[in-house]
Amino acid sequence: MKKMLNTLIIFCMISVSCNLLMVNTVEASTSLTSSEETLLKNAFGISNTKDAVKELQIRVGGWVKDANYTGSPIRLVIDGIMGPNTRQAIKNFQSAYNISATGTINQTTLNTINSLESSDDSTSHFSWNEFRCKGSSTLTWNVWHEITNITSEKALIKTIADNRNISYTSLKWMYASQTEIKENVRRVMWRLEALRKKIGSKPINLTSGFRYWNYHFRSPNVYGGNTSNVTLNSMHLYGAAADIYVSGYSNTSLKNMAKTCGFTGGYSEGSFVHIDIRSDLGKSAWWQ
Ligand SMILES: [Zn+2]
Repeated sequence: MKKMLNTLIIFCMISVSCNLLMVNTVEASTSLTSSEETLLKNAFGISNTKDAVKELQIRVGGWVKDANYTGSPIRLVIDGIMGPNTRQAIKNFQSAYNISATGTINQTTLNTINSLESSDDSTSHFSWNEFRCKGSSTLTWNVWHEITNITSEKALIKTIADNRNISYTSLKWMYASQTEIKENVRRVMWRLEALRKKIGSKPINLTSGFRYWNYHFRSPNVYGGNTSNVTLNSMHLYGAAADIYVSGYSNTSLKNMAKTCGFTGGYSEGSFVHIDIRSDLGKSAWWQ
């Protein structure tokens, strides 16, 4: 009986501490103060709190870990909830930009974020133009819709997919809207800003950003123009990837640092490092 009582007491103690832990987690995830809420809404011109938090998360998405992190790729989930990871990202961002690292949203922090943003929604060190598909000056972000209307191209892609036992319907880039593509690019830009800062503000060169399907499948610059080698579901087709290099900085170090910046896909090949935000698109992390 005594043993049972002891077991019961221990069980209760565990339950209580678990509950406390849960309460703490819940408190942390909802602890946006009203003054923070007002600051955020004003900064982004958004009346909905969740959407305003999302805009903040996109901008500090590369700071969930600091430059010393060596674990698995991790990202800040863009969910509009002010949880512990968002607080940590704010803290790391503040620390990097010499702002008192409180994890609290204040005007100084928002001003610094704002200074990293351009009026066209790109970031201060990256432009929409450099993310557009290489190989043509006439392509717009809209062109990606076209493929759904081109029977011969659809047939070709379906044949390649069938040969590799890849589901044709998993190739969602074919139906991605301009808005979706540009949103992915915007998220990549903000994480690249974090990467740039963490490597000592060295300029990052971009060799490939968003890829138009015809360029991806046919250009001699991509897979030698050989459709049998092509990656059918490349993150570049979604605007969710960047091929980069930094002068005087090794690809291995660059790739490792990208892991701390919310990139969840990465490998280095020859003269560049490929990084992408595949987990934002619901895919598992892939790092080589
Ligand atoms: Zn790539």
